[in-house]
Amino acid sequence: MLKLTDVEVMYGRVILALRGVTLEVPEGSIVALLGANGAGKSTTLKAISGLIRSENGEVTQGHIELDGQRIDGKDAADVVKRGVMHVMEGRHVFPHLTVHENLIAGAHTAPSRDLKSKFDLVYQYFPRLKDRQGGRAGYLSGGEQQMLAIGRALMANPRTLLLDEPSLGLAPMFVQEIFTIIRRINAEAKTTILLVEQNARVALQVAHYAYVMENGRIVLSGPTEQLSRDEGVQAFYLGVTAAGERRSYRDVKHYRRRKAWIA
Ligand code: ATP
Repeated sequence: MLKLTDVEVMYGRVILALRGVTLEVPEGSIVALLGANGAGKSTTLKAISGLIRSENGEVTQGHIELDGQRIDGKDAADVVKRGVMHVMEGRHVFPHLTVHENLIAGAHTAPSRDLKSKFDLVYQYFPRLKDRQGGRAGYLSGGEQQMLAIGRALMANPRTLLLDEPSLGLAPMFVQEIFTIIRRINAEAKTTILLVEQNARVALQVAHYAYVMENGRIVLSGPTEQLSRDEGVQAFYLGVTAAGERRSYRDVKHYRRRKAWIA
């Protein structure tokens, strides 16, 4: 179980990015964290993985626990050793290395005798990567690079995956493919997943539970089937009106100013 209690994060001791965030990711579940640009979703993941420190950020209040042990204040390498892998937004693969070499880089925390089974697992989830294993990662399509970034994290045999915007900038075909695989990883490898997404529609399809974030705060949470039916979520994040029509971005912004809903 991953648990955040009343977490506040500041960057450079001046920018308050998270304001009392409390959330839980039960073992074996997929939990989605939804919200608009700048809501604080990536900061939440970086606070968990310890990467905020590399951006001069700090947990200034509250605590983060993994299986009952505090991990806030630990460095990123220590959090990785506890089985938490963070796949950052923007597909950070090593472009000059081959697909195979990128995957080896992901396995450095796992014993080398397991290497073959790790490759077999990643290539079973992502057959496209197997086909391209000798090619340079920089020449892969955006969708394939995202697969490689997730595959590289899987090489470390994680218990918990933090996925930041896996759908960002991808063609719809790749979005569906990647989310189908995310669901399989959770179901088959029992990997716990905290998923940050702006694409609420697809995130609500795969996750069991979701939190909605605005301005550094959690404003709504619930099981995904319940949130999918919520009028506010439909209007703000799914772009659908009560009559089933799609709303324009302008309408949604207007609606947002008029109506405030807090969990
Ligand atoms: P996006 O989808 O655009 O990444 P987000 O919900 O992930 O949005 P964050 O990136 O966590 O939001 O940003 C939350 C707030 O913290 C924003 O106001 C942002 O400007 C600020 N912020 C994020 N990273 C830094 C940083 N390295 N230094 C200073 N402020 C930052």
